[in-house]
Amino acid sequence: MATPAPSTELHELVREQLAADEIRYTTGRRSVVATIQMASGPRTAAELSRSPRMAVPVSSMYRTLSILEESDVLRKHHGSDGVGRYELAEWLTGHHHHLVCVSCGAIEDIEVPRHAESELKTIVDSLGGDAGFRVLDHVLEIEGVCHACDERLTTESRSS
Ligand SMILES: [Zn+2]
Ligand SMILES: [Zn+2]
Repeated sequence: MATPAPSTELHELVREQLAADEIRYTTGRRSVVATIQMASGPRTAAELSRSPRMAVPVSSMYRTLSILEESDVLRKHHGSDGVGRYELAEWLTGHHHHLVCVSCGAIEDIEVPRHAESELKTIVDSLGGDAGFRVLDHVLEIEGVCHACDERLTTESRSS
């Protein structure tokens, strides 16, 4: 399991990763990585564009995100709404899981305590192994309703 990279080290790792693909780590790409690093979960292109520190114009946001995804710097997830959301790849941030809101599609990171993670890994490895499958990794998404949607739904049900 990787440990999260501090900021300067993160940018150096990303710069090296992109250099291997002969891609320059421009100010714009750096601002995308910095903004995603500050987020508490995967974010959409629209959300990233709204960041005050963003140095990539909206028009080239999708292109920038797909370059970073193809170079394995970013990983793309789809919320329950099917909209692509981007986060740093696990080799940069460490292993973690997600809470996915079935109402608005928002995804937030959740840290699983070490003992729970090890139980989870044992279960996943044995399920895969029983099926004759060599397990490399797992992705866990906990589906539910986020706090904001929960409050909105409660208010709506009261007023109807
Ligand atoms: Zn929600
Ligand atoms: Zn896990």
